[in-house]
Amino acid sequence: MKKSQLIALLGFLFLAVSCQKTIEGEQRNFDANIQTLNEVSAKYPRFKGACETLKKDANKQMETARQLSEEKSKIEGMSAANKIASPVWVNNLSQMDSKINAIRDMITKAAQNAKDKNDSDAAWTASRQGEDAIREAKNKLENADINNQSDAAAIVSSVMSNLDAAERRLNDVVKTAQDKVAAEKKAENDVKTAEEDKKAEEEKKKAPVKCGHCGQMSPAGSTQCSKCSAPLS
Ligand SMILES: [Zn+2]
Repeated sequence: MKKSQLIALLGFLFLAVSCQKTIEGEQRNFDANIQTLNEVSAKYPRFKGACETLKKDANKQMETARQLSEEKSKIEGMSAANKIASPVWVNNLSQMDSKINAIRDMITKAAQNAKDKNDSDAAWTASRQGEDAIREAKNKLENADINNQSDAAAIVSSVMSNLDAAERRLNDVVKTAQDKVAAEKKAENDVKTAEEDKKAEEEKKKAPVKCGHCGQMSPAGSTQCSKCSAPLS
């Protein structure tokens, strides 16, 4: 077996082993999921009830799994408990702060990158939309009426999609301004290159010509060697 094949095989085995679910791994995931639920419910009190329900359901499933004696079924049962404890809306809610911070960064960037009135108008509009989306998100998350899981999921999903849309608009504005700067730089460089080429061409015309036969230098523009009369090109 070649060395590269051996490395590939070892890599594959490592992946296969590390992807395999274990009781310890599922337990670690479960602890992390419960911690996330606690953090989310402390930060967003309106979602506390929905988080408590998830914790209760997930713990119940975890207890059932723990009582199973067969390892494979136990792991599957624990994995099911983890699924209950980590629905999309909880993950999104736990990442809400970093999402909002990313939008704030984009707002700063959009203003910094603006080169002309068009840019700064676009940056201003997209930034207002970003600020609105953030304010609206906070308002919704603080005041939502949540009676069940689907209420929680619907509110988080609508907040997220508003923030996503605002982020995309800001991205477009920043990218347009950056592209403009890049295009200006390229145009500048093209002019510089053309000037340099022209200069080099002129220098060449002024330079004496060396004869290929005898090595004599003749003045620029000569068609014949001044020493041996060989034609110069
Ligand atoms: Zn010559």
